[in-house]
Amino acid sequence: MLHSLTIAQAHEKLRKKEVSATELLQACIDRVEKTDGTINAVVHRNFEGALIEAKKIDAAGTFDSPLSGIPYLAKDVFCEAGVPTTACSNMLREKDYIPPFDSTTTKRLKAAGAISFGKANTDEFTMGASTETSCFGVTKNPWDTTRVAGGSSGGSAAAVAADESLFALGTDTGGSIRQPASFCGCTGIKVTYGRTSRFGVMSMASSLDTIGTLAKTVEDAALVLQAIAGKDPLDATTGDAPVPDYRAALSKGVKGLKIGLPKEYFIDGMSEDVEKAVRAAAKTFEKMGATIVDVSLPYSPYAIATYYVLCPSEVSSNMARYDGVRYGHTVPKPESLIDYYERVRSEGFGPEVKRRIMIGTYALSAGYYDAYYRKAQKIRTLIKRDFEQAFGQMDVLLAPVAPTPAFTIGAHTNDPVQMYLEDIFTAPINLSGIPGLAIPCGFSKSVTPSGVEELPIGMQLLGPHFREDLLFQVGHAFQEETEWHVQKPSL
Ligand code: GLN
Repeated sequence: MLHSLTIAQAHEKLRKKEVSATELLQACIDRVEKTDGTINAVVHRNFEGALIEAKKIDAAGTFDSPLSGIPYLAKDVFCEAGVPTTACSNMLREKDYIPPFDSTTTKRLKAAGAISFGKANTDEFTMGASTETSCFGVTKNPWDTTRVAGGSSGGSAAAVAADESLFALGTDTGGSIRQPASFCGCTGIKVTYGRTSRFGVMSMASSLDTIGTLAKTVEDAALVLQAIAGKDPLDATTGDAPVPDYRAALSKGVKGLKIGLPKEYFIDGMSEDVEKAVRAAAKTFEKMGATIVDVSLPYSPYAIATYYVLCPSEVSSNMARYDGVRYGHTVPKPESLIDYYERVRSEGFGPEVKRRIMIGTYALSAGYYDAYYRKAQKIRTLIKRDFEQAFGQMDVLLAPVAPTPAFTIGAHTNDPVQMYLEDIFTAPINLSGIPGLAIPCGFSKSVTPSGVEELPIGMQLLGPHFREDLLFQVGHAFQEETEWHVQKPSL
């Protein structure tokens, strides 16, 4: 079954000419045809264009790059020339926005020989934790289709977990790569802010947005990041720091490393199964030769309140460009310019986007700026400082990704605050700009009408700025030792 290969395995087969890029892509296409009716992960199919690319790669016949001939899906916020990109919003869907240019990330992947064959579902403009705000409807969890796949990169995670794609691109502003990876049992890397280019990716909150990937293994995530990381003249926020050889880092093991368990990430009310699984992972690391130390990050509990002031503030600014003139939905026969804007934006945006525009506009208004926006910025600094101090004493931190396994579809739709609380362990990482690697570390049981289902649980490894190599090193060592990441849903 070619579609269930990892990137590293597929690369070996392509290199030895045991399989062609066209065959590999066709296997993924067939898999999408078979399973996507059930999970709804893929919102746009670009199969014909992809098959043409695969043929070209086969004709060239060189598979030097580890990504050459590897099919992937991009979250529906990555611009690709000639391919509809809608952010899963009616604002862009009506006319199917077709970008005239490529994002830096998809351009770099193309240069490395990877083949984009479709777009993956996301919450509208990446605002959400379940894909329930997507105009294409919710993505279902491949492990239990009564549950969400997580969000906002839920389509990317579900597609990888269901073996529809070898990897998928995602974005993480407050947890959107790590939480769906955790809910679906895959590996997800949220990079240091500025490690990858945001050019050509629709912005949500520009000081928090990061571009990363969801994959089947840590090794695969490292291979993808190798191709997309690094300075980009088109994004002034990308860093100059050289990109290390991530693959070389993989084999270094964890002996002698100090791993911190932050006590604020094990709290009352979280799922017992999640806590148990993460603590068991810590024990595994101990057995492998690492030292586990307790640590405190006292400002992390303020992250949700801080994030939900800063993120909507930036959203309110970024969403201003969707005015029906430069981009997006249009309406006939407006009575005035104001009437035009009002109708375009009322019809084009869904309720979550509108809620954030209102909160953000309020927090930035002259009368409330000091009380909310400025204060949140100060707390952001304190949250970041906690991490800097911790990394002075230890190598990496280990924490759960989400307080619970995947929740039932509809469970939080009428309670936005409950949905926001999903980000309790992930948002502090974005506020600090540090990298986080989510990997599977156990299962929880869910009782459904059709019987008892297994639900994946994820943990996150956190490291200092630009130390993705260290996270890959620790994460890969864990995957060599355990088998959580090779379990598959029965679809
Ligand atoms: N769930 C978070 C939010 O709704 C994170 C979203 C994201 O990372 N794109 O803001």
